[in-house]
Amino acid sequence: MTHGSTDPNRMHQFDPALTELIFDYMRTRLSMPEVPLDFPGNSTEILSALDGLISAEGNSALDVLNMYDEVLSRSVLSGDSPRFLAFIPTAPTKAALLFDMIVSCASLQGISWLEAAGAVAAENQVLRWMADAAGMPAGAGGTFVSGGSAANLAALTVARDMGRQRLFAGSRKPVRIAMSKQAHSSIGNSLSILDVEPLIIDTASYRLTGEDARRALAQVGPDDIPVVGIVATSGTTNGGIVDDLAGVAEVAAEYNLWFHVDAAYGGAGLLAPSVRHIFDGVQHADSITMDPHKWWFAPFDVAAIIYRNPALAKAVHTQDASYLDVLHTTGDEWNPTDYAYHLTRRARGLPLWFSVVVNGTDAYRDAVEASLTLTRQVAELIRNSDKLELVIEPTLSVIVWRRIGWTAADYTEMQNRLIESQTAFVTPTSWDGETVGRFAFVHPATTLSMVQEVLDAL
Ligand SMILES: *Cc1c(COP(=O)(O)O)cnc(C)c1O
Repeated sequence: MTHGSTDPNRMHQFDPALTELIFDYMRTRLSMPEVPLDFPGNSTEILSALDGLISAEGNSALDVLNMYDEVLSRSVLSGDSPRFLAFIPTAPTKAALLFDMIVSCASLQGISWLEAAGAVAAENQVLRWMADAAGMPAGAGGTFVSGGSAANLAALTVARDMGRQRLFAGSRKPVRIAMSKQAHSSIGNSLSILDVEPLIIDTASYRLTGEDARRALAQVGPDDIPVVGIVATSGTTNGGIVDDLAGVAEVAAEYNLWFHVDAAYGGAGLLAPSVRHIFDGVQHADSITMDPHKWWFAPFDVAAIIYRNPALAKAVHTQDASYLDVLHTTGDEWNPTDYAYHLTRRARGLPLWFSVVVNGTDAYRDAVEASLTLTRQVAELIRNSDKLELVIEPTLSVIVWRRIGWTAADYTEMQNRLIESQTAFVTPTSWDGETVGRFAFVHPATTLSMVQEVLDAL
């Protein structure tokens, strides 16, 4: 770092010492057999470490990196720790993590075929592999966006506009989209952004079935706001439940509805022979959301949105600006920007692409099956326990359990105690209004003995 220099290019010069410093840090982190879970932040400590850091002259990179290492990074719960069992964890492969750094240092602009044909073609190759896993037709395609929330918003925008096109020649009249209460919060948020009313389908169990959907749609009269789409989930974030995709697909076809499948968490189950049959019907989706940063072992932040007929999405999402005309010269270029609400984008599908190409698809199948096997083993331990019980039978790799006799405060105390001892990060959830325990497994390095340590502490 060239302190005292006035050269305007001084920040852009290769700095061997800075490079070594960063590479060393990354090498240390990447070589850890198990990354530390670390802790929730203490805001006084964090704010005092950050205080006054931004200055006209800058700081020593070594000092800043040391502070990051000692204070900031310790105040971040590592989602890729095999002991992180809350929410939906993450478990990026080494190859994916390393290639993410190449994506960063090459400033890959993934907006268009014109600017990044090589990157876009590779992203599309791995998107194709995901579409094939779902049994989507050859013409299917889409793009990678920041997360499942953005993917759901992109898809539901197309669902709304296609419905208005069909019913009202495109005029902005009210339409509705059907969903169950178990749908992810981002579905409700997307509908509210889109000013689309949800039709909440009552379900006989926690799993949305074709019958539930048919019953709800039969009640929509000719004077009611028309329903133009339906969302099914595979699997639900809270319970890992996979809706009756085949049944819902049938009803969607009958009523001419856009069929969106939110497989943000569960989509990787398509790779696992032991549960693949549960997803039957997914091949009929008009659009599917799948998050590689959840159970496909890619680093944050990446979600796939795949459309059965990408031309429909392109008609809705293409941005029209004079300076962008050059992106659309022949009309058949594949521009990722045309398939969601975004222009500039990181070629964020490339870490997944590199890892899949290098590791091979068998390694992906085995890593997904590992969490499913662990789920079955832990479920068995819970069934055999006197103090614990399963709240629902697990479908994928989420377990919802109850510690008999516990109140909400006991679960909160458990969360704090387990993080204090660095045993695991486990958070309670609510199920039918009751506070209960929950595990989500996606890391193939999470072992039965790690989970046993948690169970022993309950
Ligand atoms: C996680 C999740 C989302 C949201 O995905 P983000 O990547 O967190 O935006 C949406 N739907 C389901 C079913 C999920 O599990």
